[in-house]
Amino acid sequence: AIAGIGYIGYGVYEDRHPEDQIVPDPSKKTLVILGTGWGSVSLLKRLDTENYNVIVISPRNYFLFTPLLPSCTTGTIEHRSIMEPIRTILRQKKASVRFYEAEASSIDPDRKVVRIFDNSEIRGDITETEVPYDMLVIGVGAENATFGIPGVRDHSCFLKEIGDAQRIRKRIMDCVETAAFKDQSPEEINRLLHMVVVGGGPTGVEFAGELQDFFEEDIKKLVPEIADRFRVTLIEALPNVLPMFSKQLIDYTESTFKEEKIDIHTKTMVKKVTDKTVEAEVTRPDGKKETIVFPYGLLVWATGNAVRPVIKDLISRIPAQANSRRGLAVNEYLVVQGTRDIWAVGDCAVAGYAPTAQVAGQEGTFLARLFNNMAMTEALEGKIGELSSSLNLQPGNAAAVSREIEGYERQLRRIKDAKPFHYSHQGSLAYIGSDKAVADVTWFNGNVAAAGSLTYLFWRSAYISMCFSSRNRLLVINDWLKSKVFGRDLSR
Ligand code: NAD
Repeated sequence: AIAGIGYIGYGVYEDRHPEDQIVPDPSKKTLVILGTGWGSVSLLKRLDTENYNVIVISPRNYFLFTPLLPSCTTGTIEHRSIMEPIRTILRQKKASVRFYEAEASSIDPDRKVVRIFDNSEIRGDITETEVPYDMLVIGVGAENATFGIPGVRDHSCFLKEIGDAQRIRKRIMDCVETAAFKDQSPEEINRLLHMVVVGGGPTGVEFAGELQDFFEEDIKKLVPEIADRFRVTLIEALPNVLPMFSKQLIDYTESTFKEEKIDIHTKTMVKKVTDKTVEAEVTRPDGKKETIVFPYGLLVWATGNAVRPVIKDLISRIPAQANSRRGLAVNEYLVVQGTRDIWAVGDCAVAGYAPTAQVAGQEGTFLARLFNNMAMTEALEGKIGELSSSLNLQPGNAAAVSREIEGYERQLRRIKDAKPFHYSHQGSLAYIGSDKAVADVTWFNGNVAAAGSLTYLFWRSAYISMCFSSRNRLLVINDWLKSKVFGRDLSR
């Protein structure tokens, strides 16, 4: 029975009751998928699950729509609006899929098993076990890069997971309320209200923009006594922010930040972090280096990705991966080099593209098609084999059977002619604050650069249409309206 119809990505899906789903057939191959991010969920969305025994393993039992994560740090969007439970996604599949909320600690490609552990809060202990696979897809993403800089892990907030956004939101309000507390010294007020962002990639830029909006539109009105003290500083080691955007858009972003009173320090590399200060080395125009100390209340660290330990461990077990530094090297069909039955997608894979949601999503979709075709190939080969062996047994029907075989062979050739993965770049978008965005979009094979308020409307509509489900879409629109009409919620 169809319990409901919704819109998912680009197609209509059906919600099924578990009892209506096909029960996995143990004679089929076991396909284990690690992760519930962009790569793994895009694969699941389009995979014909009846062809395999599918097991999904991830410490996160939901998909997170990461492009809107910076908006959660200030309450423009509530966190649950951009989360989609994995169980809801799996319920839409024709054949049931097993899900284990656990983290993979190691992968043994020789024994073909994944070692997983569940850090159960309810039991207060750790359960470890092994899951065997015939085929494995790794989509575990990456962790935050800190480059071993002292103090970063202990004192800064990252911006990768939903918990990070919640932590930042609480910390902003903690800084504001503490600064407004009775008898604070002027130096302490300045420190508490200094919000420092390290990393001028899209994460750092979008967060700085959102933060300044929060201050201008809400904090300033509700806590006027600190209005002239709140400051946002963005620190970037390279000569400019947003290196993946065109020069024109970089200039636009930098001048908009100036108007918004966000301080940008380029050619400034953070070297050390303490609980109250950031120490950075700035390269002056004459080439001289100088150390600056920034006291801060909130420090957000957004300097890109690093390889997860489980991936490092797997790399060390595969001789063909000896030179892999940034993740698992994959071939043009996303097969992990040096293996035959392991594929990798998203930020943990090195396929020659930037580690973005767009790339991961397209890789997942590619693998779904590949696996659907592989299952179909097997089924067609089986049918051809059956028909060929019956050919001699029914001489009267030989011509009809031969035609049928030819038909299947034609289908088989079409499927086997699978093209390798090719990434099609749709463009880059970033919100830069005060209802403005920048966009480098591919349009009719050409590049279009756009910036400003109209681009912001485009940014909004693009992200709304990309939301995972109609439920997410409705919640995000509701949050936008709510924060516009009533202001953001300042409660901690
Ligand atoms: P990033 O890798 O794009 O940028 C990190 C920046 O931090 C770099 O510019 C680097 O020079 C700087 N940095 C590193 N160490 C530093 C130090 N010690 N001091 C000062 N600066 C330092 O990271 P990101 O913004 O988290 O993005 C990660 C990936 O996700 C990228 O591929 C990005 O394109 C993608 N992404 C895209 C969007 C979007 O399209 N809107 C949004 C978020 C992320």
